[in-house]
Amino acid sequence: MTASLRRVVIVGSSLAGLQAAQSLRSAGYGGAIIMVGDEPHLPYDRPPLSKQLLSGSWDPDRTQLRPDAVIARLGLTWRRGVAAVALDPEQRRVELADGGTEAYDAVLIATGTSPRRVANPLGLTGIRTLRTLDDSVALRAALEDNPRVVVVGGGFIGAEVAAEARRRSLPVTMVEALSVPLSRGLGTRLGQLCADLHVANGVQLLCGVRVSGFEGDGHLERVVLSDGTVVDADLAVVGIGSEPATAWLETSGLTLDDGVVCDSFCRASAPGVYAAGDVARWHNPLFDEVTRIEHWTNAREQAAAAVATLLADHGLGPEPAAYAPVPYVWSDQYGRRIQVAGRTMGAEEVTVVHHDPDDGATLALYRFGCRLGGVAGINASRRLLPFRRMIAGRVGWDEALAAAG
Ligand code: FAD
Ligand code: NAP
Repeated sequence: MTASLRRVVIVGSSLAGLQAAQSLRSAGYGGAIIMVGDEPHLPYDRPPLSKQLLSGSWDPDRTQLRPDAVIARLGLTWRRGVAAVALDPEQRRVELADGGTEAYDAVLIATGTSPRRVANPLGLTGIRTLRTLDDSVALRAALEDNPRVVVVGGGFIGAEVAAEARRRSLPVTMVEALSVPLSRGLGTRLGQLCADLHVANGVQLLCGVRVSGFEGDGHLERVVLSDGTVVDADLAVVGIGSEPATAWLETSGLTLDDGVVCDSFCRASAPGVYAAGDVARWHNPLFDEVTRIEHWTNAREQAAAAVATLLADHGLGPEPAAYAPVPYVWSDQYGRRIQVAGRTMGAEEVTVVHHDPDDGATLALYRFGCRLGGVAGINASRRLLPFRRMIAGRVGWDEALAAAG
């Protein structure tokens, strides 16, 4: 007998959370949807936070994911600005920071990630991370004071913030732990091309070193590196990766391991509990790999997949398919678009199949065993697309190389 479905609680009212609510309503679910989110804002989009909002070309309002009227039509019960602090799968309820509880028939966990930080024992101002709308508005204001900028980490945050700071002609030093930025994921050739792009645009790039401390009197004045180098700075932006937001689930008994562990259908380890987006770790049958993806496209697609499973488990939808996407991410830096599809980390071979020194357009393929596992490009959207399809079709390496000509 299938359990009845009258109350769905969604924890995390951002991209995956809102997509889940929309998918529930599009499928005809007419019961209660309780949306719990610890941020005060209506759901907004994060990619513009390091791009259009940071540059000032967009106002904060423009980042809202859906217009007010569309959100109102979803008929959600909002618990906005309130964090979930615990989940009890036995009693099927979520406990909230304001002392309230929300009972559920099914709950979707979509709490995303939070940024890793570098210790700041002196409590200096001028050291920032970038995850939320409020972070972006504050960082934009800080950039308007014409600071000397140190970017800690050469990942996506570091690269996009450095590009924006250089657009404003600010002095920028990027400190990256790897010997070549992004090389763990993209390989050394593409990583080096990205590094060259920063250097050509005036970034002082320091690789193979870490930040060991911050100095100043109340406000940041100097960043100290692990090799003893001292960099004068008024603003440090720390982009050294993030952690899944699962602290509130520690007493839940759910299986947690760098995220909420799910099966291939987005079911967590207790009945009626599902997860999607940055916080979810699941088995992707396409690569026979347990993975967690911190990208925009995945948050939307996985939320829709989790809802399909949730409805099917309650007798309200067809048998769900396993969630087997080709992960995809893009990044915009200095007017170039960097795109990655599939998996690249741990590839056994990386082959650059196209490189135009004049316009910088580059495409690389990533081999896992005898299959094409991933593709990455710089200003190569049109060339990348067929390989994205080939990855979904489990095409062999030789066939992919032949298609690349
Ligand atoms: P989130 O968007 O992190 O939302 C989770 C929500 O849950 C947050 O509002 C959080 O505050 C809330 N929450 C957490 N804990 C609790 C709790 N206990 N109770 C209640 N609420 C809670 N990806 C790309 O592919 N391309 C890009 O160009 C790109 N640019 C980005 C730029 C920036 C600055 C950032 C930060 C991310 C970017 N991303 C990009 C990544 C993309 O935005 C994320 O993958 C996506 O936002 C994940 O969506 P999510 O809903 O899973 O999590
Ligand atoms: P990230 O992309 O994981 O990159 C972090 C980088 O910092 C890695 O290169 C890492 O090297 C390096 N690093 C780690 N510790 C360091 C240290 N102590 N000193 C110097 N470097 C260090 O993470 P992020 O850039 O912080 O981004 C955070 C989240 O925002 C991610 O989920 C990301 O996907 C998302 N985001 C995405 C985009 C986009 O897709 N365009 C844009 C902005 C943000 P190692 O690999 O050696 O650890």
